[in-house]
Amino acid sequence: MNKITNHMPTAELQALDAAHHMHPFTDNSALAKKGARIMTAGKGVWLTDSEGHKIIDGMAGLWCVNIGYGRPEMGEVAKAQMDQLAYYNTFFQTSHVPAIALAAKIAEIAPEGMNHTFFAGSGSEANDTNIRMVRRYWDIKGQPEKRIIIARHNGYHGSTLGGGSLGGMSGIHEHGGKLAGIVHIGEPNWWDQGGDMTPEAFGVMRAQELEAMILNLGVENVAAFIGEPVQGAGGVIIPPSTYWPEIQRIVDKYGILLIADEVITGFGRTGNWFGSQTFGIKPHIMTIAKGLSSGYQPIGGSIVCDEVAEVLGSQGDFNHGYTYSGHPVAAAVALENLRILQEEKVIEHVQKVANPYLAQKFAELAEHPLVGEATLVGLMGSIALTPDKATRAKFAAETGTVGYRCRERCFANDLIMRHVGDRMIIAPPLVIKPEEIDVLIARAKTSLDECLQGLKADGLMVARA
Ligand SMILES: *Cc1c(COP(=O)(O)O)cnc(C)c1O
Repeated sequence: MNKITNHMPTAELQALDAAHHMHPFTDNSALAKKGARIMTAGKGVWLTDSEGHKIIDGMAGLWCVNIGYGRPEMGEVAKAQMDQLAYYNTFFQTSHVPAIALAAKIAEIAPEGMNHTFFAGSGSEANDTNIRMVRRYWDIKGQPEKRIIIARHNGYHGSTLGGGSLGGMSGIHEHGGKLAGIVHIGEPNWWDQGGDMTPEAFGVMRAQELEAMILNLGVENVAAFIGEPVQGAGGVIIPPSTYWPEIQRIVDKYGILLIADEVITGFGRTGNWFGSQTFGIKPHIMTIAKGLSSGYQPIGGSIVCDEVAEVLGSQGDFNHGYTYSGHPVAAAVALENLRILQEEKVIEHVQKVANPYLAQKFAELAEHPLVGEATLVGLMGSIALTPDKATRAKFAAETGTVGYRCRERCFANDLIMRHVGDRMIIAPPLVIKPEEIDVLIARAKTSLDECLQGLKADGLMVARA
C-alpha cells in the first residue's frame, strides 16, 4: 500500500505547487508568493493540514462531502470494483452493473416521473449535456428554432464553455467568451437588490422577468429555463417564497423545459433529497454531481423525466457522451454513498437535528454588529456583512474587501467558510453533530469579532454613499 502519510516540509510542497500546479479560479502568481494551504487528511467534518492544524470544514469541500470525510466503506467499494471491472464504457450497446444499479437507485429516490439518468463526469459536463439535450428534444419535436436557454445573472452552472455560458457570472464570460443562444434574467437576491420592496413582492417581480423575456424572444425560440433551487456559488441566495411558484406558473404556461441545477441542492443539502422538493419545483431535467458521490469520486449526470427521455430516444442516436459516462468505479462509490445517506438517515438528521440547531445559532449570529442577516435552508446558509443593518448598506470599500478579510480571519481560526462578495457562506457536511456546530459557530463568532476590530482600526466600517 502506498499511503502518503509522511510528506516533505510544507515550504517545499508549496514551492513545488507554485512551480507546477495551476489552481482553478485562483490568482496563481499571488498564491505562489503566499503559498497554498495543504490539506493532508479528513475525518468526519474535520480536515488536517500539513502543519497539523485541525480545521472544521464549514464548506464540505466544495459543497460535496455530504457524508463527511474518511468513510472506509467508500474505499472498500472502490477497490472491489477496480478489482472486478475497473473500466468499461456504456457506448455501443454495452452496459455494466454499477451504472445500471446507480441509475435504478437514482430513479427510486428522484421525484416521480424522473426515471432516467444520463451520466457525466461532473456538474459542468452534465450541464453541457443539458444544452444539447433540450435543443435535440425540440429538434425531434419538429421545432428546431427553439434553441434559446434562459438562465440568471449570478447563477453558477459550472465552468466549461457550456456551463460557464449558462452561468451568469461576467468574470467567467470575460475569460474565453460565451455561447450564443443563452440569455440571462435577474436573480431573486432580495437582500442585495430588493430595495424597499417586500421579499414576497420582489420574488414575484424577478420571476416575471422570465415571462417578459419569453415574450420578448418569442416562445417559438425558447427551449428551456435553468436555475439552481438555491444559488450556491452566487452567495447562497435563498429565493423569496413567492419566486419558484411564479417561475413554475410561467414555465407551465409557455410549455418550455425546466432544468433544475441540483448539483449543490441535491442529495440532502436542503433537508430533502432534492431542492426541487423543498421549493415545490417540477423540473423536466435535474443536474446532479457533488453530493451524488459526496466527492469521493468525480461523477455527475442529468436526471431526465419520462417524456423527455422518450422523445430523445425516439429518433436514432443522440450524438453525445463521455468516455467516463457512468464510470464503474465512480458509479459503485456513488451507490455506496446513497446507501449511507439512506440507511443512516442522514437527510432526517439534517431536517430534525442539524438544521434546527444551526438555525438557532444563526439567529444568534444575526445579532452580531457586523451581520445584517443570517439565512439558512437545510445545511446551506449565508451571512450578509454590512456596516448598517437597518438600511442593508453595502461597504464603501470595493465589494468583497470585507468578505475576504473575514475569510482570512476564519482561516486563521481553523474554520473554513467561504466569502462571496461580502457574504460569508457555509455548507458543512450533512453529518455534522450539534457539538461540532457549536465549534463552528464559536470560531465564526471569534472571526467576526476580529474582522470587525480590524475594520474599525482601518476605518472600513463605513457605508457606501
Ligand atoms: C459546482 C456546480 C456546478 C459544476 O460542477 P463541477 O463538478 O464543478 O463541474 C454546476 N452547477 C452548480 C449549481 C454547482 O454548484
